[in-house]
Amino acid sequence: MAEAIALTRLAERLRSFPAPPETKIMEVCGTHTVAIRRSGVQHLLPGTVRLVSGPGCPVCVTPDRFIDEAVALARQGVTVTSFGDMLRVPGSRSSLEKERASGWDIRAVYSPLDALKIASDCGRETVFLAVGFETTAPVIAAAAMKALEKKIANFSLLTALRLVPPALKALIAIPQGDAAAQPPKGTGATAQPTAADTGLSGFLLPGHVSAVIGKQAYDFLPERRLPGVISGFAAEDIISSLLMLLDMHNKGIYKVMNNYPRVVRDDGNEKSRQVLAEVFEPVDADWRGLGAIPDSGLRLKAAYAALDARQRFAIQVENASPRGECRCGDVLRGLIDPPACPLFNKACRPDRPLGPCMVSSEGSCSAWVTYG
Ligand code: SF4
Repeated sequence: MAEAIALTRLAERLRSFPAPPETKIMEVCGTHTVAIRRSGVQHLLPGTVRLVSGPGCPVCVTPDRFIDEAVALARQGVTVTSFGDMLRVPGSRSSLEKERASGWDIRAVYSPLDALKIASDCGRETVFLAVGFETTAPVIAAAAMKALEKKIANFSLLTALRLVPPALKALIAIPQGDAAAQPPKGTGATAQPTAADTGLSGFLLPGHVSAVIGKQAYDFLPERRLPGVISGFAAEDIISSLLMLLDMHNKGIYKVMNNYPRVVRDDGNEKSRQVLAEVFEPVDADWRGLGAIPDSGLRLKAAYAALDARQRFAIQVENASPRGECRCGDVLRGLIDPPACPLFNKACRPDRPLGPCMVSSEGSCSAWVTYG
C-alpha cells in the first residue's frame, strides 16, 4: 500500500513537472524501453519531452553480416548455439530459424555454459554466438575459461560483443579516430550521426551494464554538457530517474547520477571486469545504425585464440546489402520513433518481423507494437 502511494506521488510529480523547452531523453537500454512502454511512463511526461530509444538492444545492434557468418557455419555442419532471440533475426539472405528448418543443427540455449555442455556431450564442433554487452560478456568469458580448463576442444565462440560507452560517444559525436568518420554501410541508417542530428538532452543510463562498468564510465557526458542518470527498471525507478534528469536539464546541471545504488556501485564490479580483461580485449566493431566505432567491441585475446570460431573455420560471406526500407538503424540512434518506418506494424510485425528491432523482445519496434 505504502509503495503504491509512493508511486502515485512520483507519477504526480512527473505529470506536473514544469515543461522544459523541447527536450529529448534517450533511454539507452532495451530493457528500459520495454519497461517504459509496459508501464506507460511516457504518458506522464510534459508534452515537450520526448523519450527515444538508443543502441542498447544487443540483438538489434548486431549487423546482418554476423547472422550471415552464423548461417555459413551451420551450413558447414557445425552445431550453432545461441540465445533464442538471435534465431529469428534476418541476415542478408536467411535466418538461423530458416536454416534450422532446413535441417542444420542450430539450438537455442539460455547460457554459454549450456552450449559448453552441448559441446562436451555431443563431441561435434559447437559454436556459441557471443552477443551482448558488458552485462553478458563476463558470463561468456567464464565459459571460455572453463572450456580451456576442461580441455573441451570442440567448443568455440563467434563474437559480436559490444561496449556501451563507445556507442554513446559516437552518438554524441565525440571524435574517436578515423573509423568514426566512416559512413555506415548496410547498417539500416541514413547517415552518420552528429550531435546536431541526435539533439539529445540527456541519457537514462542502463542499470545492468552500469553494475559492471560503474558510474565513472560515463565521465565523458558532463564534459559534453549532458546529464545522465543510471536507473533501475521498476516504474518508480524510471520515474524518479526522469525527474532527476529533467531537473538537471532545467537547471543546466551536467552530472552523472546513480539512482540505482542497490545494484550499481560507482566503481562498478571489479571482479567482472577482471574476468573480461582476462579473456577479451577491445576491438573496432560495426554497429547497426552507427557504423564502425573504434574499440567498441570485444575479441578473444591471443591466449584464447583457439576458441575463436573465425580462426578455426573458413567463414566466407558476401558483403551484406542495405536492409531495404527497414529504419532500425535510425530507431537505434533515436532519430525516429518506430511508427515513422513505413513497414511498422504493416509488412513488419512481431509475428513476421523484417528487422531486428521487431524481433527482439527488447527491440523498440516490438515494444511499440506490444504496448502501444
Ligand atoms: S518496423 Fe520493422 S522494418 Fe521498420 S524499423 Fe522496425 S524492424 Fe525495421
